[in-house]
Amino acid sequence: ASHADAVLAIRGLDKRFGGVRAVADLDLDIGHGERVSVIGPNGAGKSTLFNVIAGDHRPTGGRIVMFGTDITGESTRKRAHRGLARTFQTSKLFSTLTVGDNLYLALCGRPGSVRRLRNANRDRARRARAAEFAERVGLGERLRTEVGELSHGEQRQLELVMALATQPRLLMLDEPAAGLSPAERGGLMDVLTSLDRDVTLLLIEHDMDIALVVGERVVVMADGEKVLEGGPDTVRSSDLVRRIYLGG
Ligand code: ADP
Ligand code: MG
Repeated sequence: ASHADAVLAIRGLDKRFGGVRAVADLDLDIGHGERVSVIGPNGAGKSTLFNVIAGDHRPTGGRIVMFGTDITGESTRKRAHRGLARTFQTSKLFSTLTVGDNLYLALCGRPGSVRRLRNANRDRARRARAAEFAERVGLGERLRTEVGELSHGEQRQLELVMALATQPRLLMLDEPAAGLSPAERGGLMDVLTSLDRDVTLLLIEHDMDIALVVGERVVVMADGEKVLEGGPDTVRSSDLVRRIYLGG
């Protein structure tokens, strides 16, 4: 990708928690429209990397350039306005609101405020769009269901379409397949492989099938460091990756 197409340029990124170096001197470039998977064992620093990119944690060192602007010190809110949407490893939905209301709020902008539901009944166009997004992950019949009553898998799917509803330029998903049934995993795969190319995708995924099918480039992390970067075939045939996962 040329410089003009750079979505992320990360240099020397470091994040320490006391004595733990969760992310260590990490460089990463991501171009417009790329699909990049981040894999690695538990504790490798994958979620911390996302938290630092999204602004939920301040890095201890290094720089993050997003869409050509240094955003290292910017708030999460400002990054969201630049077009970054992310999901978390655990749910951040409004559990006492319905599926439809959650999606409505996501469509209202980033981040949504519950106050905006006051106008929801009059805003039929946006209501209809919320229904369309629900359909994409098979939640079309669940618009009036409170989120707290959805299965774990349904909640994860809802989070994903809520992130999509904000029309992100950069979408970061942290283990979207975790806790999903095989059928739901299939649905997730369909959504991810049919994403618009205007959306750049950064995906943390434990399920290797999904990580290596969706990810056209794969970043392998271990102990906070990027230990390998390459195409899915490189990762599949890597002795290093085998050793990391088997711990041998
Ligand atoms: P992964 O997502 O790859 O499993 P994490 O980024 O969650 O890894 O964790 C990397 C390391 O950082 C782990 O040793 C973890 O215990 C530590 N860590 C992550 N978040 C925090 C935090 N908020 N406070 C203290 N230590 C943390
Ligand atoms: Mg994690």
